Amino acid sequence: MSPVDSVLLLLAALAGLVLLQVVIPHLLKQAQLRSLARRTRGRLVLSYDDGPWEGLTPRVLEALGKRGARASFFLIGSKVEAEPALAARIAAQGHEVGSHSSRHPHPWRSDPVSLGLDLARGHRQLEAAGLRPAGYRPQYGKVVASTWLWSLLRRQPLRWWTVDSGDSQGERDPARVVERVRRAGGGVVLLHDGLGTGDRAEFVVDTTVALLDLAREEGWVVGGFEVLERA
Ligand SMILES: [Zn+2]
Repeated sequence: MSPVDSVLLLLAALAGLVLLQVVIPHLLKQAQLRSLARRTRGRLVLSYDDGPWEGLTPRVLEALGKRGARASFFLIGSKVEAEPALAARIAAQGHEVGSHSSRHPHPWRSDPVSLGLDLARGHRQLEAAGLRPAGYRPQYGKVVASTWLWSLLRRQPLRWWTVDSGDSQGERDPARVVERVRRAGGGVVLLHDGLGTGDRAEFVVDTTVALLDLAREEGWVVGGFEVLERA
């Protein structure tokens, strides 16, 4: 084989790898997002990532509990191991629980094998704490081929969101999130109970309350992802 052929072969292999690992999973994600957006009309799913965390999860649980609302929590396995009682409290209050990996690796910056192992470990850590994960939320909303494969094999549907509250990017005004969800006629809202103190924690609690008020005014169904499956 000539040097030119070798380079061409290498380029073709790399293109195939990018297609398989990134492009196809991304296109599948876009198709799922379109389907999700159709099913969120008149429905509100509040979803909390990166917990459980003693610094904020109890306040979120209290805000939800006072209003009799059910939500979804995507838990990090290593944090569940560190705070098993708090994780159990989430489930005991009737909330939906899903997996969000074991140590939160970035899917595009991890090799497929260690990424798959981390997902499997996160799932096991939830099960070991007596939880039954009902879905998987990809870290940073990024998917690769091994993510899809793992979710298919474990029958853990990928759980996207339609509205990012912006809590991890500095948004501090609940009214802006409420307006976006109102305009969309409902949605799956991304929030985080696993990071942030001070303003960020206040924002998460206040946005939770404001969105539940909006849902009540609009007469929307509130719950975990199961409310979308019935849509
Ligand atoms: Zn996360």
